[in-house]
Amino acid sequence: MTHLVVFLGPPGAGKGTQAIKIASEFNLAHISTGDMLRQHVKEQTDLGKIAKSLLDEGKLVPDDLVIQMLIERLSHDDCLGGTILDGFPRTLPQAKSLEKINDKFPVVKVIVFEADQEELTKRILLRGETSGRGDDTEDSIRVRLEVYQKDTEPLITYYEDKGITTKINAVGNVDDIYKEISKEFIK
Ligand code: AMP
Repeated sequence: MTHLVVFLGPPGAGKGTQAIKIASEFNLAHISTGDMLRQHVKEQTDLGKIAKSLLDEGKLVPDDLVIQMLIERLSHDDCLGGTILDGFPRTLPQAKSLEKINDKFPVVKVIVFEADQEELTKRILLRGETSGRGDDTEDSIRVRLEVYQKDTEPLITYYEDKGITTKINAVGNVDDIYKEISKEFIK
């Protein structure tokens, strides 16, 4: 059985940074669907060709494509000891797709990253100066934050109802936030 821990939160909240640190400290696999999609774009695969303009505009890639990509990735051996999902699920159908495979891949914990919109926009624009990401632009950030509020934020209640969420204040020092999150993995 591969336990899944979901890192849920708006773009720019630091999910990726924290996921890398936690995964290495606690020997977990780290799956970032954003990183996987960017790799597809780079390699110009069929999926990459469909995803490119959506990523640049800050829109979501269709559920069925992302779900298929994620499920295939979960079947790799490195996921056996537990996996952090960074950037998935982002919609209710994506969350429900995890329910369907729940006996093999149960979601045991959801870390909810909280930060205000102004702070996030600032952070992403700053990141854009060095990230080389085509979607770290003002127009795309606006869309990404809107998409988050509309499609992804409802997942917080969805997982709260299951009693598996922990909220983290994602504004502040990276190491302090890391300490907060690690408490959830030692218990
Ligand atoms: P991220 O690196 O998580 O910020 O993701 C970058 C972009 O990849 C998003 O703005 C979407 O276009 C796409 N993406 C990543 N994860 C998903 C997902 N779970 N569902 C749909 N699109 C996604």
